[in-house]
Amino acid sequence: MIKGEIVEELKRIVGEEDVLTEKEDLASYAYDGTTNWYHEPDVVVFPTSAAEVSEILKLANRERIPVTPRGGGTSVSGGPVPIYGGIVLCTVKMNRILKIDKENLLAVAEPGVVLMDFNLALAKEGLFFPPDPQSFLGATLGGNVAENAGGPACVKYGVVKQYVLGLEAVLPTGEIVEFGGMTVKNVTGYDLPMLLTGSEGTLGVITKITLKVLPLPPATKTLMAVFDDVAVAGGTVYQVLSGGVIPSKIELLDNWVINSIERLQPMGLPKDAGALLLFEVDGIQEAVEKEAEEIERICREQGAREVRVAKDAEEANRYWTARRAGFAAVFSAAPTVLAEDVTVPRSKIPDFLRKMEEICKPRGIEYSVIGHAGDGNLHPSLLTDKKDPEKYAKAEEAMAEIIEAALELDGVLSGEHGIGLEKKKFLKKAMPPKAIELMKGIKRLLDPNNILNPGKIWEEDQ
Ligand SMILES: Cc1cc2nc3c(=O)[nH]c(=O)nc-3n(C[C@H](O)[C@H](O)[C@H](O)COP(=O)(O)OP(=O)(O)OC[C@H]3O[C@@H](n4cnc5c(N)ncnc54)[C@H](O)[C@@H]3O)c2cc1C
Repeated sequence: MIKGEIVEELKRIVGEEDVLTEKEDLASYAYDGTTNWYHEPDVVVFPTSAAEVSEILKLANRERIPVTPRGGGTSVSGGPVPIYGGIVLCTVKMNRILKIDKENLLAVAEPGVVLMDFNLALAKEGLFFPPDPQSFLGATLGGNVAENAGGPACVKYGVVKQYVLGLEAVLPTGEIVEFGGMTVKNVTGYDLPMLLTGSEGTLGVITKITLKVLPLPPATKTLMAVFDDVAVAGGTVYQVLSGGVIPSKIELLDNWVINSIERLQPMGLPKDAGALLLFEVDGIQEAVEKEAEEIERICREQGAREVRVAKDAEEANRYWTARRAGFAAVFSAAPTVLAEDVTVPRSKIPDFLRKMEEICKPRGIEYSVIGHAGDGNLHPSLLTDKKDPEKYAKAEEAMAEIIEAALELDGVLSGEHGIGLEKKKFLKKAMPPKAIELMKGIKRLLDPNNILNPGKIWEEDQ
């Protein structure tokens, strides 16, 4: 419990109106984009500058108070949940776009800028920021960098780390540092912006971000390929990519997800399909037409029973809205949903999907798969109920086997959501001990008193 004088000091730093201590306010900062964890902070602060962040961290470091950085709170791995209470440092009031430099294809922004707002501002200049986590309506740039987020468009364009040119951050001890720069090439020493990118709010609070941006492609086309068998759909992904076409997006939805979306809001998806692949191609008109034809040909050759080419933007939007509804469809379907974000080499997607079925079916577990199949990044989700210990234990055991199956297929534990809270227990299986030791050493160096987002990534504290 934080003492009254600490709250007073925080009020002095950020102003009275930017400090919350009422129980009903604190409750809003106790969870993330899921309902899987609930821990209230003692206080929430909304700094508006790097200098204020620095003062907060100096105070917290002096008093050994845990600080949990938070952007939009849309994480699904528990990252912004303050499991030891203390201070939630929320960046949503640091929300200015400082520069859009069309000549150099870059932009500079504060961490609290919502991704959607960033792209709306860029679009006015004919530009866009490609990484597109499907939480773009609420997720912030700071959260995107801290999680090294991705999304459907990362097949062609890559994830956030491919766009971070420079960062300003405040270290847990309060120093304000600037890493990287404004150029697209930079090998001046170690790549420190990459150290913070994907660090899940454990190494520093990001206060300013310089990002590469791109010109908006002049044309896009969306296709939906319908398959009877989910593994055949999964196998078509690498056939398309190795066939020489790199679509901007390839997403997979299995039969359970399709039906669940249709129940929430009918979108015209084929309810009897084993799985769908949604593709988008973008670029100049002629290339888009040719690539769409090639994708259709390969899908049919691989066994798609139908390929719908969206005839206009309205139809294309409907399919992508359906894809986005997948998250709500999955998470609203049971009291507890265990959902992961393992990633496997693309040629191993069919093996992974079959393995998942082998693990879940005999146990009678209701499960689904949706995901960024173009990156081999899948979201296996198990429907369960934490309040039913037997059922929950069965789902936990199945998820552990699913994760192990992904690792055995040369996959990784997390493709985009980060380790956070739940996946900590698998880290030792997913990574050599030396790598973990090095990471902990970096954490100790930057955060000697372990005040910044403690309890995340590693099972035991440093
Ligand atoms: C519906 C839905 C769809 C999603 N789809 C995707 C997807 O397609 N791809 C994907 O990658 N993720 C996805 N996510 C997960 C999540 O939205 C992303 O991880 C997103 O980048 C989090 O941004 P945020 O601002 O909400 O961060 P928060 O949830 O607030 O925080 C996430 C982590 O970043 C840290 N953090 C936040 N701001 C800072 C900062 N300024 N400095 C240092 N650390 C900071 C926090 O401590 C925490 O560990 C989805 C989530 C939802 C709910």
